[in-house]
Amino acid sequence: TVAIALFTADLRTHDSPVLRGALDAADQVVPLFVLDEGIRAAGFRTPNRGAFLAGCLADLDAALRERGGRLVIRSGDLVREVCRVAEETGAGQVHVAGDVSAFAQRREERLRAALAGMRRELCVHADAAVVIPPGAITPADKGHSAVFTPFFRKWSAAGARRPLGAPRKVSVPDIDSEPPPEAVGLAGGRPSSGLPPGGETEARRRLKAWLGGPVDRYEDLHDDLAADATSRLSPYLHFGCLSPIEVVHRARQRGGAGAEAFVRQLAWRDFNRQLLADRPDAARDDYRCRQDRWRPDGEDAEAWRAGRTGYPLVDAAMRQLVTEGWMHNRGRLITASFLAKTLYVDWRVGARHFLDLLVDGDVANNQLNWQWVAGTGAATRPNVVLNPLLQARRFDPKGDYVRRWVPELREVEGSAVHRPWLLPGDLRRRLDYPDPIVDLDEALARFRTGRAA
Ligand code: FAD
Repeated sequence: TVAIALFTADLRTHDSPVLRGALDAADQVVPLFVLDEGIRAAGFRTPNRGAFLAGCLADLDAALRERGGRLVIRSGDLVREVCRVAEETGAGQVHVAGDVSAFAQRREERLRAALAGMRRELCVHADAAVVIPPGAITPADKGHSAVFTPFFRKWSAAGARRPLGAPRKVSVPDIDSEPPPEAVGLAGGRPSSGLPPGGETEARRRLKAWLGGPVDRYEDLHDDLAADATSRLSPYLHFGCLSPIEVVHRARQRGGAGAEAFVRQLAWRDFNRQLLADRPDAARDDYRCRQDRWRPDGEDAEAWRAGRTGYPLVDAAMRQLVTEGWMHNRGRLITASFLAKTLYVDWRVGARHFLDLLVDGDVANNQLNWQWVAGTGAATRPNVVLNPLLQARRFDPKGDYVRRWVPELREVEGSAVHRPWLLPGDLRRRLDYPDPIVDLDEALARFRTGRAA
């Protein structure tokens, strides 16, 4: 007998319910990845995520080969390709991870119907990409939890299953595969220069290093921009090179205040997923419509994208995004608040730009975090505006983060780097750095009156 393990956002062999489910169901397994043309057509396969994905696929293929198997790669319409492979191999079951976006939900329905038409079974593993599956924690009257703190309390108490080990042997039937794709072939365009390498091997190495020490400083330093003291595991979690259940399990084993704070942060992933599972429209539409009269894309948004707003902390973070395909969470909060509230530009403009560049770009986490900051999401204090100067004082007090990312300001010492407009005339003139594009007090007034009555 044959079963298909269809990899999507779970590109790993350890703690893989999809691979394990297929192995338990049949003598032979087709570990299959389809380069879905729908994802490319939707513009979701960008140079950064394409390059990272290519690394993940090469590593997954190598891990399967070590176990006597290999990865089978096809490209085209995912449903058509899976059915074709089922036909070619006589596979009776297809195992796949549950997913929440509207695109993924539609795709799953199409796949289920197509397989049913061939008398094949689709087995969806709801726990393959989350710790607690969407829908498992819900208040009595709702399809999802709208407030994080009570969600987190129940999430912590729920207790996840134990992680599964990697299989020792994977026997694959004789079947054609395309060669593993090259990064450039996946998404045209050049990836960011500071992109991390994709794949489960690198992911596990980083997780081990992280839990071996740095996590202990997480509670104190996670918001310190210059310290750069977060795990940077987000791309590996996005592509499923790491199982969130295993990450949480190992962090809890490690214990301590740092590990606990880190686990709490991982719960946000599940929180956003269950919001999107219940409200797929929130990827595009306001989760809570507050009648904002957003300003459209234009010159201000362009300065924001270019990292030339004249507010050094905002510009530093925007440039980190371009160079690394990643941005520190505090930077994401500050730059998103600056676009959506200070410039009062539609949050969708910013969310699109983030998705174009972030290697961890994720519909649930990106769109719902943007909505959180813009005040249309699940935030309990939707009118908070982050002042970039006050944020600078708290989270980059010495100005080191700004000097790291804004070379024009490197010769300015200490915290003076955050207010270049106050520098002595000749120094100010020498710096090729713009004046602020907006007055913060005027911007605050515009935001407060911007909402229609
Ligand atoms: P750590 O601080 O080490 O946290 C560990 C893990 O917890 C992260 O890898 C991530 O999986 C999860 N996590 C942490 N914070 C959050 C959060 N606020 N929401 C959801 N999950 C979280 N995260 C993404 O993975 N993809 C995105 O597209 C994304 N877009 C964002 C957009 C905005 C405007 C904001 C404010 C946040 C966004 N985040 C996104 C959340 C967060 O910024 C990143 O997950 C985090 O910066 C990744 O770095 P890290 O792995 O070092 O995080």
